[in-house]
Amino acid sequence: MAGFKSIIGHEQIIEHLQNAIKMDKISHAYIFNGPDKSGKMMLAESFATALMCEKNQVEGCMECHSCKRALSHNHPDIIYVNHEKPNTLSVDDIRTQLNNTIDVKPYEGEYKIYIVDEAEKMNQQAQNALLKTIEEPPAYAIILLLTTNADLFLPTILSRCIKLDLKVVNKDLIINHLMKDYQIPDYKAEVCAAFSQGNVGKAIQLASSQEFNELKESAIKLIKKIDDIDLYEMGQTVKKVTEYKLEINDYLDLLMIWFRDVLYFKATGDVNDLVFKEEVYDIKKQAIRHTYQGIETILDALDKAKLRIKSNVNFDLVIELLLFTIKEN
Ligand SMILES: [Zn+2]
Repeated sequence: MAGFKSIIGHEQIIEHLQNAIKMDKISHAYIFNGPDKSGKMMLAESFATALMCEKNQVEGCMECHSCKRALSHNHPDIIYVNHEKPNTLSVDDIRTQLNNTIDVKPYEGEYKIYIVDEAEKMNQQAQNALLKTIEEPPAYAIILLLTTNADLFLPTILSRCIKLDLKVVNKDLIINHLMKDYQIPDYKAEVCAAFSQGNVGKAIQLASSQEFNELKESAIKLIKKIDDIDLYEMGQTVKKVTEYKLEINDYLDLLMIWFRDVLYFKATGDVNDLVFKEEVYDIKKQAIRHTYQGIETILDALDKAKLRIKSNVNFDLVIELLLFTIKEN
């Protein structure tokens, strides 16, 4: 973590938190609500660091004793609540790590901050235990709940917290970040940013993932030659896709991004905004070959294939039907 300044996007949330610090109107409980890797922890940690900073600014200075320890996760008044079992945050976890320690005054700072990651894993009992604390917290206590699904919280918890919903981050900001801070080439940054759907952490992960790279290569290879595949070769092609059964959603999403590119190019003739810029030759070719109606049908078929696989329709059958639809349209 390195403070609000290093966060890509989420301007409104940062403004809200910095205003709270400026006006000295800090709430006792916040919910950071957003998908996995979307930046919840960075926001929470930047907030905690700023609050604890010895220089009393809206951004941690990253140099004082307090900031340094916050950065290295060694600040005695910033407490990370962990769970013993992987899939639940139990009532015992909440009691021993939060409820039983919250009355002990902060060691040095003005605040004592609890960061509860994966808070959606609290069962009802755990939430009820937490509720007791949130109802009457000590003046110095701040509880930051990080969750992928705030809908799972009891209404009584929701009503006592400030809920901050993370929004998708602008694609260009992500591309820029990948290129500048991770030295990812532009064509790769484009795909990863498009694929991450506005999730910075996911984009970074994809950009550095060998598996994703392979998946992408395989999907592109398939899509480029699909028109030349004969019917009797179809079985083999389906088998190739089956190798990616576990990542099939990603695989289909890549095909979807491809055909959106084809559609976009057909409509505008514009190369600059394509995700698969480096494949412009094949995109062009397919834009000429497919009708608008055909491309829409393919995009629909991709959606349907995802749903069918999700509801356990025979995998090979779904893929075969999909490939036929792409060929025929
Ligand atoms: Zn500082």
